[in-house]
Amino acid sequence: MLHADRVVTILGATGSIGQSTVDLVRRAPDRYRVEALTAHSNVTGLAKLARELGARFAAIADEAKYGELKAALAGSGVEAGAGESALVEAALRPANWVMAAMSGAAGLKPAMAAAGRGETVALANKECLVCAGEAFMRHAAASKATVLPVDSEHNAIFQALGAGRREDLVRIILTASGGPFRAATREQIENATVEQALKHPNWSMGRKITIDSATMFNKALEIIEAFHLFELEVGQIDVLVHPQSIIHGLVEFSDRSVVAQMGAPDMRTPIAHCLGWPHRIEGPAQRLDLAALGQLTFEAPDPVRFPALRLVQEALRAGGAAPTVLNAANEVAVASFLDRKIPFGGIARLVEATLETLVAKGTAKAPQSADEALAVDHTARNTAAGLLPQIALKAS
Ligand code: NAD
Ligand code: MG
Repeated sequence: MLHADRVVTILGATGSIGQSTVDLVRRAPDRYRVEALTAHSNVTGLAKLARELGARFAAIADEAKYGELKAALAGSGVEAGAGESALVEAALRPANWVMAAMSGAAGLKPAMAAAGRGETVALANKECLVCAGEAFMRHAAASKATVLPVDSEHNAIFQALGAGRREDLVRIILTASGGPFRAATREQIENATVEQALKHPNWSMGRKITIDSATMFNKALEIIEAFHLFELEVGQIDVLVHPQSIIHGLVEFSDRSVVAQMGAPDMRTPIAHCLGWPHRIEGPAQRLDLAALGQLTFEAPDPVRFPALRLVQEALRAGGAAPTVLNAANEVAVASFLDRKIPFGGIARLVEATLETLVAKGTAKAPQSADEALAVDHTARNTAAGLLPQIALKAS
């Protein structure tokens, strides 16, 4: 059998990407054995999955829930763990394919641990590359791990890159749906509600990334993600708004050929690509029917209504730890917006103010380890938290 030896671990198994991965595993249970699963605080969901998939280890991030998890797994033969060290232990277990799908910088240490094992890491957690891209890629290369991009745009680029030689590559183009406020005015965007921002036109995803799509910080993070994954110059990464989310990414070669990857907007396609790689497995997404769609449209991105697209260029130009600061400030800003403490327009203002405050102090050098990255992350979160009251009050 093709993948009888595929031993799978899913970090962030209860989330949107985690569930899509589980869906693929469920469709071919005899191809995969599940080693470890992790979740943040949903004990019931985690225990249910671990029992169903016959996992050997289940880890919950919330240390206080260890007893509850142990009880929920009683008699199942699944070992229980809790706390940050248990998440890292889950990542270190002997799997040969690890899905890194925790959200935020919290996923960095487990993802690094997985990358250090020299096996395959399917990387969904983009924050981890934004926060510590250099360190992560170096760590993965040193252990000869294979890092496969799960993010749909990066997965598309990874597939398209296969069409030519690296030295003939001119640029890559990341497509963006434009989110729910693609056609909104500055005023509408400034005062958008949580409910409006959580309504993504094409993709069903976790809350953090859905808000990031509405601000276009998702695309900003993806530019930094591509920068590290594919070792590109900043000027080689372009963004194109494509509201239908059918073309996920494009690569231009020196002869002016542009190679694109397409598919229905369903994360199970890029996940299936990573799960089968280097082969192809059966994917459950809807087949693409371009005739039924009729037309695909494109627009230039607008950095005025979506300051995230300007801020990412500034952070990359500043270099060093600026992208780490941008990521941390954005995480604080998104959580504050979801808690209704700042207006939607305040997200970009908080990120900008945090960058200005810390860059003015002289940007630290790019973090060389997970610990260094998390130290910058911590400082940036505190700085952002300190700036919150001023952002909350200042209407634009
Ligand atoms: P989600 O919020 O639906 O799920 C996140 C998972 O991580 C859950 O299992 C949760 O329990 C766990 N988790 C969250 N915080 C944690 C913490 N502090 N400690 C331990 N575990 C924690 O998120 P998602 O939409 O599945 O996204 C996961 C990652 O994949 C993100 O980095 C996101 O940017 C990336 N991504 C998602 C999509 C998508 O379509 N959902 C697409 C591309 C990339
Ligand atoms: Mg994406």
